[in-house]
Parts: sequence; C-alpha cells; structure tokens
Amino acid sequence: FDDRDGSIWLDGEIVPWRDAKTHTLSHGLHYASLVFEGERVYSGVVFEGVRHTKRLRQSCNILDFDIPITDDEVEAAKLAVVEANNIVDGYVRAFCWRGSEMMAISAQQTTTHVAIAAWEWPSYFDPETKMKGITLDISQWRRPSPESAPVQAKAAGLYMICTLSKHAAEKKGFQDSLMLDYRGYIAEATGANVFFIDGEGTIHTPIPDCFLNGITRQTVIEMAKSMQIKVVERHMNPEDMASMKECFLTGTAAEVTPVSQIGDYKFTPSDISRQLVDGYENLVRGR
Ligand code: PMP
Repeated sequence: FDDRDGSIWLDGEIVPWRDAKTHTLSHGLHYASLVFEGERVYSGVVFEGVRHTKRLRQSCNILDFDIPITDDEVEAAKLAVVEANNIVDGYVRAFCWRGSEMMAISAQQTTTHVAIAAWEWPSYFDPETKMKGITLDISQWRRPSPESAPVQAKAAGLYMICTLSKHAAEKKGFQDSLMLDYRGYIAEATGANVFFIDGEGTIHTPIPDCFLNGITRQTVIEMAKSMQIKVVERHMNPEDMASMKECFLTGTAAEVTPVSQIGDYKFTPSDISRQLVDGYENLVRGR
C-alpha cells in the first residue's frame, strides 16, 4: 500500500505518498501509542467529519497525548488531502502517534505526529448483493473490561485481538467475527457495531460500555427511531440470538451491512434491514 501515486498530509505538509515516512523507533510502533479515525467521503464531502475529529482528539487525550493542531486545522487538512487526491467516494484515515525522541515505556518527551491519508473507495456492493448478508464466526477473544484497557479510545492496541479474530474467522471461511465482552455478553464485530431485529420488529443492540459507541451506530439508532422502529439497548447473551430474525453491522466502512449467520445462528435479512440500508445510503448522500 506504500508504493503508489498520491499525496498524504504529514505534520503540516502535503507530501508524495511514497515519502510519507516515520522513524522505525517511533514510540507508536513499539508501544501502540497510536490512535486513528476512519471516515468516508461521499461525493467529495467527508461524512460527519467534525464528530470524527472530536473522537480523534478524545482518543489522543485518553492515551495521554495531545494533537498539536486545532480541530479546524484537522478539518482543513482532511479537505486538502481529499482534494489533492481527487477523491469523490472514498475513505479518510487520520492518525496521531508518539514519535521517536525516546525509547522507553515512559514517553513524556515525545512529540505527537499527525498524518491524514485518503483513497478512493466506492461502495462495492449494490443493495441487492448486500441483502444476501455476510457470515460471522464467534471469536475466542473477548473485549476487555474498562478496568483493563481504555476501551473508548480508537487506539491501535485495541485492534490486536480484532486482527487475530478476523484471521481466525477468514481461515474458517467466515467474513468477520463477533466478539463477546469480558462478561460473555455480545459486544461487536472486529470493526463494526452489531444490531439484531426480533420477530416484533424491535431492534436490539448491546450497550457500548466496553467498546466503541460508533458514530454510524448512533446515526442508525436516530434514523431507526425517526422511522418509528423501536430500539432497545441492552446486555445480550449469545443465546439471545436464537430468537432474532435479522442482524446487521454498522460502521464507517461497513455502513449498514446485513448478516446472514453468526456461528450456528441464522438470520434472514428482510424488510427492516433493507429500510435501514436504503435509509443510510440516502442519508449519507444527502437525499
Ligand atoms: N467498533 C470498532 C472496533 C471499529 O473499528 C469501528 C469502526 N471505526 C466501529 C465499532 C464503528 O465505528 P464508526 O461507526 O464510528 O465507524
């Protein structure tokens, strides 16, 4: 992914894609002092950019470092990168990490680097393909408790178990993995939040008390309520999936993605999932 044309914003400058480098002794690389955001660009506009910038700053602060530029400067940098790369429908990756001034667990004297990359990333699936649903394994790894990790930060370190879960799932032929939390409740997928719909048409989704309360999650809950669909946030046991008819994931990258299977539990994406897939598409396109 590094050897290609394009431009990346790095510490205040737009640099050629191939030259956007950092030192191998960066604290972020060794001790996971790195936080990031994933955002979508629809028709040249960054969707919910300000909310993502706020979360980026919040993630930095939770990891005890600061972004050295203002929120407005982050927004301007995103725009500059989107324009420099002529992105119409794409993805923006903004990230901050501690530099290489010292090599130790303590890193009080490091500087914070900021970079923003963007690339073309159209929505691959037409709504019909999407409605078939994806399949999920159930991971052996569990989301840690808020007493074990800074769970509300979008921090690189929290993704180690996501990559392991996803690899294990892919090796078994699944597309993604459902992670339970430290109590055994349903938490989320490896990079997206999870929702279920019961036989009465009520949506059930886990309480985000030990994983990211996704921006898409919040948007979809508001949208469902505005469509007069009842939404219940509650702790959910894996066995609760037996009585659920539909299931979908939400996330910046996933958007609203129906699910047809989790472990041995089967779901049939139908009317309500379709309403939400279409509703979200209309929303992000400003229709
Ligand atoms: N959980 C995890 C672990 C994620 O990586 C993401 C994607 N950022 C989400 C949930 C969904 O968050 P959002 O809707 O803000 O993209």
